[in-house]
Amino acid sequence: METIIPAAKAAARLLREQRSRLGAAWRPLRYVLREDVAEGTLLFNGLTRELLLLTPEETAQMDAPGPVREALIARWFLAPEGQDDRKLASELLSLAAALEPPKEGITGYTVMTTTDCNARCFYCYELGRSRVPMSRETALRLADYMTAHSGGKKLHISWFGGEPLYNAEIIDLICQKLREAGQEYRSSMISNGYLFDEATVRRAAENWKLERVQITLDGTEDVYNRSKAYIYKDGVSPYRRVLDNIELLLEAHIAVRVRLNLGAHNGEDLFRLVDGLAERWGGRPGLSVYSNPLFENNDFGVLEQVRTHREETFRRQLELEDYIRQKGLGGRNGLRRSLRTGGCMADNDQSVVVAPDGHIGKCEHFSESEFCSHIDSEAWDREMIRSWKEKVEEVPDCAGCVCYPECYRLKKCPNAGACFPEARMIQESRLRQGVRNEYRWYVHKQAAREEQEQENC
Ligand code: SF4
Ligand code: SF4
Repeated sequence: METIIPAAKAAARLLREQRSRLGAAWRPLRYVLREDVAEGTLLFNGLTRELLLLTPEETAQMDAPGPVREALIARWFLAPEGQDDRKLASELLSLAAALEPPKEGITGYTVMTTTDCNARCFYCYELGRSRVPMSRETALRLADYMTAHSGGKKLHISWFGGEPLYNAEIIDLICQKLREAGQEYRSSMISNGYLFDEATVRRAAENWKLERVQITLDGTEDVYNRSKAYIYKDGVSPYRRVLDNIELLLEAHIAVRVRLNLGAHNGEDLFRLVDGLAERWGGRPGLSVYSNPLFENNDFGVLEQVRTHREETFRRQLELEDYIRQKGLGGRNGLRRSLRTGGCMADNDQSVVVAPDGHIGKCEHFSESEFCSHIDSEAWDREMIRSWKEKVEEVPDCAGCVCYPECYRLKKCPNAGACFPEARMIQESRLRQGVRNEYRWYVHKQAAREEQEQENC
């Protein structure tokens, strides 16, 4: 039995070894995923985060009394019949959360450089909101605020909008001021990618310390250009321009995560897009692709046409994700090493979102309300902060759901929506992909180590 990934520290500390109980009947813990590989069987414990490889001989002994079964019991891969696995998971995760030491400083910033945009996507959740750019004065005060509240730690800034590059001067100003103050930072961006060019990519790599950009592609050329409906009428195809900009980013070693928004309007077309992306960038380090369904309960709530096609959309998404993986564009999603004790930036005390007027909020999807402070103030609306930590109540399906230890849904999250079997299938398939990726990397590292040892002999 080989340990590919050890159990999370908190799980090892809080659970210790499970004792074998005389006469008890044992079954796999609900959160254990099994994946067969050429060398044997991978067992991933989603509760403790431990990943094991069993040889074929050990796999054959899993169900019989003996040392293999004893080891699986001790490491919580097996549970006694009658145990409430959900209760065990819930108690462990609550305890781990309660024991986490408080973290000092604000180190994660999502900065809305503007809520204006150069595209007019029909599904945009910001449709109907005011289009406000951040001013130079606000940007300079924000940089001071960031330095004063960092606790001396490195910042991670996510540039967000609208389209963040539609007010790129603000990014220059903030970064310059941070550098002058000796404040360390790195950044990422959610962008439509249109406004990059060689000079901007150079600034991004050198001054903004930009490490990753997420860019949405809605389809091949015609579908994309129609969906995005950019404001420019210069005859240049935005699709070609954005693809060329992805190349510029990759050449500058800035990772690009392409998001494919999947709806009833582009289901077939996205497969053709994946073909095109694979032809141009298949296997290229730094590029990854993932899909996101447009459906009624997330931030794209206006999409009436998808409302009646939920199952169809998720089925199509599963096929699309498989296709993305087959084409070598699936990226490097691995497994989380620690227990999941929080949701996202919204319930994280070290993260804030800054609107163009300097208001501070918790979720990037709110630019005009739900604020809890301002960069000109040290006062915080504690009730607002607390409200962002409230979790969605569990549903009956949670009791048997393999994703339970991964699932952390906030009541106020516009993306939380209802939980559907199809959505769970996507989550489970991503988890299984993470298991396979982790094993592949482990094998690769082992081979490299052995080669190195031979060279050293
Ligand atoms: S995915 Fe759905 S069923 Fe599973 S734990 Fe989350 S809310 Fe419950
Ligand atoms: S609350 Fe939901 S929409 Fe808001 S930042 Fe978190 S995951 Fe995103």
